Amino acid sequence: MIYDSSVYVHIPFCERKCGYCSFYSAPSDEKTRTAYAKALCRSIETYRTMHLECPSVYFGGGTPTVMENESLISVLSKIKNVFELDDDTEITIEANPKTVDIRKLTELREAGFNRISFGVQSLIDEELAALGRIHTAEDALAAVNDALKAGFDNISCDMMIGIPKQSTGSMLYTADRLSELPISHISAYMLSVESGTPFYEMGVDTDDDVQANMYLDLCERLAENGFEHYEISNFARDGRVSKHNTRYWKREYYLGFGASAHSFFDHERRSCDDDTQQYIMRQTQQDTVNEVFPDELEEYIMLGLRLSEGILFNGLRMYGASEETVSEIRKKAEELAGYGLCRVTEKNISLTDSGFLGSNAVIGEFLNLC
Ligand code: SF4
Repeated sequence: MIYDSSVYVHIPFCERKCGYCSFYSAPSDEKTRTAYAKALCRSIETYRTMHLECPSVYFGGGTPTVMENESLISVLSKIKNVFELDDDTEITIEANPKTVDIRKLTELREAGFNRISFGVQSLIDEELAALGRIHTAEDALAAVNDALKAGFDNISCDMMIGIPKQSTGSMLYTADRLSELPISHISAYMLSVESGTPFYEMGVDTDDDVQANMYLDLCERLAENGFEHYEISNFARDGRVSKHNTRYWKREYYLGFGASAHSFFDHERRSCDDDTQQYIMRQTQQDTVNEVFPDELEEYIMLGLRLSEGILFNGLRMYGASEETVSEIRKKAEELAGYGLCRVTEKNISLTDSGFLGSNAVIGEFLNLC
């Protein structure tokens, strides 16, 4: 019996494509956005009879705030109507600073959104221009200020490591300025140049060693500024971690609605096609099942080691690891701890900041033993 699931809503619209972006999103017109919101509502409606409790809702994109409030609020109302939300349900919306004003933010807050995540990326205008962002540093600061005035007290900002023309000093300047704001959360992502993006076509290069050093400097600075490093790319103050994203890392169920949205529900990992027009045309969402009963032990290691709390030896046993495998994993962890990549206690294994940096390789070492 399934009794709860988070909800993710993908809004595949942006004002303009940023040079580095590989997410599914594109410019749109109002008619398309309205029709898309209606299609989302039809698909959400199909879960009514399940009476699922919903601990978190996340509107991501794309840029959800490109969509008119009427449409955003109609989708949130449908979710509230179909799922069982309570006062503790975290309801996040991602926003681009250039696409909000005090009126828009106030209406969203009044409609029930209680967490907002701004794509700030940098507080240096030259770096924002290099990324192809549509906003300036001043826009970002004004947006955070407007969100506070609108009543949001749980605000996250994204920043980026390894932007063309960025130095360690300028990255730390952005981190410090963000830390001075009354925000609760920072996500920091390394720029990666994916094929098919304008940056890839332009031959923009990233330097792994430089990015690695910048990441370590940023982790140190954010810790000094009072942020707990709770996941590879995420830092929270006052314990205000992203409840929604934490559910992904803990393998809890979430239903994704919209073109290109992913779900993990009823032991299935599923995804919806990257096709907005098709999504609008269909009566309800049709997902492709990518995996049934995914390997629990493998996922527990892969996702659990992203979190600073790490994985428990008892958790390995619970997901089917034999005593021999547990002991081999412990031995490997002790070996990697000697290189400063992880910490091992009686009960658990967790990665250090250096371990997070090489997490793919480190996690691969453990998976090889399963
Ligand atoms: S605003 Fe975000 S989703 Fe939209 S193009 Fe830029 S990076 Fe991609």
